[in-house]
Amino acid sequence: MSHAIVWFRADLRLADNPALAAALEAGHAVIPVYVLDEETAGIRAFGTAARWWLRQSLQALDAALRSRGSRLVLRRGPAEQVIDELVTQCQADAVYWNRLYDPASRDRDARLKQSLLARGVTAHSFKASLLTEPWEARTKAGLPFKVFTPFWRACRAQADPGRPLDAPTRLPRPAGSLAGASIASLLHQETPSDLAAHWTPGEASAVDRLASFLDDDLEAYHRQRDIPAVDATSRLSPHLAFGELSPRQIWRAVTARRPSPGGEKFLAEIGWREFSYNLLFHVGGLDRHSMRAEFDDLPWRDQPELIDAWKHGRTGYPIVDAGMRQLLATGWMHNRVRMITASFLIKHLLVDWRIGERWFWNRLVDADPANNPVGWQWVAGSGADAAPFFRIFNPVLQGEKFDPAGAYVKRWLPELAHLPPNSTHRPWTADPPLSQQRYPQPIVDHASARQRALDAFAGLRRRPLRSP
Ligand code: FAD
Repeated sequence: MSHAIVWFRADLRLADNPALAAALEAGHAVIPVYVLDEETAGIRAFGTAARWWLRQSLQALDAALRSRGSRLVLRRGPAEQVIDELVTQCQADAVYWNRLYDPASRDRDARLKQSLLARGVTAHSFKASLLTEPWEARTKAGLPFKVFTPFWRACRAQADPGRPLDAPTRLPRPAGSLAGASIASLLHQETPSDLAAHWTPGEASAVDRLASFLDDDLEAYHRQRDIPAVDATSRLSPHLAFGELSPRQIWRAVTARRPSPGGEKFLAEIGWREFSYNLLFHVGGLDRHSMRAEFDDLPWRDQPELIDAWKHGRTGYPIVDAGMRQLLATGWMHNRVRMITASFLIKHLLVDWRIGERWFWNRLVDADPANNPVGWQWVAGSGADAAPFFRIFNPVLQGEKFDPAGAYVKRWLPELAHLPPNSTHRPWTADPPLSQQRYPQPIVDHASARQRALDAFAGLRRRPLRSP
């Protein structure tokens, strides 16, 4: 029987996995492999929270493979070299993988494909983590999209993505055994993590999460998704980031239901993910360069103490602090609050968006190479189809609008639990006043910080958007 390596990357699932399905369809005995590649130049190493997720997710994948008569082979190192060596060791005739879209992974995969072909080993790559490949969505002029709405309209007009593939029931295993690293040695966990109280990584849990979200929250999604006190969003983001679930599975499950405003809005959010990957593919370097180059000329301020207050939820603005504490405690933050906290760092503190992007990258379980930098650049105003820089969120009014009863703030800031609704988002007005030890005074004054940001922006000269 011929042997094939199936190289798992951001697709840690057995169902709707085109690379795995194609290897089996071709009649190969399959060697499932995961390579922790933190050595290839340009590949972003996982942050702390994502490493925790990855470890659990690999365990879940390995268990699922074992229950089908196989097991996951784990390796660490530059993937090009590692896969090349594995091909020799197990005399593989073919390597199968699902595509990634960041420039460093694409370059690496293209080089690997060439070198495998030169050895007479075939390499097969597949679409698995997007509904539409970035090169499939083009404007009438044949260019990549810069604006979300026409992009999503074009994606929606394309053919239905089809039925998701079933997970295999058995995996023929090659003769002989391959030694590999253990998950524990690959991803050493220094400290016991609190994240386990909030999340269950793995494909089975992703499928359950989707089902319960669709049953309980889809109907009201469009009305409630902006209210951080209500668990009204899917929380599928880390499952999607690690590929435990495919967007096609989501698409199918949503469109199989009665059309509804909630379902349409939810699919549009999946569309924002597609748009982010479209930008990652066509522009690249999103975590390093502002898409609007003039933003790299902003007079960013380097203020370690203020940045530290932001990171640890001690800014004196409750909605900002609640979000940052939710992030520290759970590895996740509600989308509305991500926008508010990011805006506060960039505009109120005038801190380079890349500093915030890196903090999120390190702390989010759903840290995503496309969504995270695009989210930050959207808030900064430096990205494609982004919020304009002069739109500066007032953290008090945002809190009062989206958390009117203060339930979200009080959940994450127990020191404010006793405040009445009219002072929850303005604790400096509390009577009697709060001591500074209990909760800090605002680290900046909203009106003057806002003016400083507007002045900084007024000094910028518009330059064209980096491609697309
Ligand atoms: P739902 O509302 O249930 O949405 C379903 C899915 O759609 C999400 O899981 C996600 O894959 C996608 N999605 C939703 N909103 C967006 C969006 N605005 N942009 C792109 N995709 C979206 N999302 C990440 O997955 N990883 C990140 O690292 C990340 N960083 C962000 C940083 C900032 C500053 C901002 C403003 C947004 C960021 N987002 C990121 C987007 C968004 O906040 C999260 O996807 C969402 O909060 C995840 O929760 P959910 O799964 O319950 O979302």
